[in-house]
Amino acid sequence: MEQYKLLTPGPLTTTDTVKATMLEDRCTWDDEYKTLTQQIRQSLLDIANVSSDNYTTVLQQGSGSFVVESVLQTALSQDDHILIISNGAYGKRMMEMAHITRRQVTELNVPYNEIPDISEVRHILETTPTITHIALVHCETTTGILNPLDAICDLAQRFDKKVIVDAMSSFGGVPIDVESLGIDYLISSANKCIQGVPGFGFVIAKTEAIKSTKGNAQSVSLDLYAQWVAMKDSGKWRFTSPTHVVAAFHQAITELEQEGGVEARHQRYASNNQYVIQSMRELGFMPYVESLYQSPIITTFLYPNEHFDFDDFYNYMKQQQFVLYPGKLMDTPSFRIGNIGDLHREDFEKLMQHIKTYQTKEY
Ligand SMILES: *Cc1c(COP(=O)(O)O)cnc(C)c1O
Repeated sequence: MEQYKLLTPGPLTTTDTVKATMLEDRCTWDDEYKTLTQQIRQSLLDIANVSSDNYTTVLQQGSGSFVVESVLQTALSQDDHILIISNGAYGKRMMEMAHITRRQVTELNVPYNEIPDISEVRHILETTPTITHIALVHCETTTGILNPLDAICDLAQRFDKKVIVDAMSSFGGVPIDVESLGIDYLISSANKCIQGVPGFGFVIAKTEAIKSTKGNAQSVSLDLYAQWVAMKDSGKWRFTSPTHVVAAFHQAITELEQEGGVEARHQRYASNNQYVIQSMRELGFMPYVESLYQSPIITTFLYPNEHFDFDDFYNYMKQQQFVLYPGKLMDTPSFRIGNIGDLHREDFEKLMQHIKTYQTKEY
């Protein structure tokens, strides 16, 4: 079997040991399996560095978007009003999900290559006192931009608003001080920086916040409160859970700890990200996002010239066992290189060699 190196931000390249855990079948009602679920829930609190007095976790079947939607369905009551800040496709998706709940929504749309202006957010909060919640994406995977989570959480605390963070592509790879930032709901999934395989996501929630959400959801399967109640005492998932994925995730958490935790993983990601950007610049590929706002997760590169044929480049790189990621910008031709997953400096050195070879072949 071909072992591709996925330069995509999830599903991503996993270790053989993570993949190997999936060769065993498990029963969802069995105590051993419930223990696995409970261990994962506890580990997530540890990774988030939050106390179990104030925070709890819920695992939810589906891809990351299902989990974001379960939070938007469940966190907002009929009287609530949410401000959603967006500078990419995932922020837009949150807006779409929030509108379907028929709750009050205020949108702050920011250009994709900019971060939200804090004084503008403050102005909205000052002039719209009915707002109860603020939602934002931490690392907008659309571009690779890293949003100013601290500043927005700081505002939220001052204005006494609840905060929902899509930290899908950053949690586990970028340190986030969940408790001191006062984040109410932080969302991520199995197949991003924890380096598991796709199939479920999770929410790290303030217990006080989730406790008061009974009856809000207008969906059965995406009712995060009901999922939490079923899960919190026994470790039972409400419906069939992705057993293989859960076992793989448990192993992935062990490997995150072995690597040295979030700080160590962040170091590896940041150093490889800088290496990629520096090397690509030397080859004539300019990053889309200003370096000040660039995340250590994924980078958007502009086409180097009008003759650049991405499909040809993609196919060539795939023959070399590297899978690139197409761009997601509306108006600018671009592609992306993700650097999360089980990828190391020697992989990126090889990648750059292949890109160099491709260029000399082309031009
Ligand atoms: C991956 C990702 C999601 C979830 O996408 P799915 O395709 O539903 O897994 C949501 N937000 C961000 C920022 C992401 O990177």
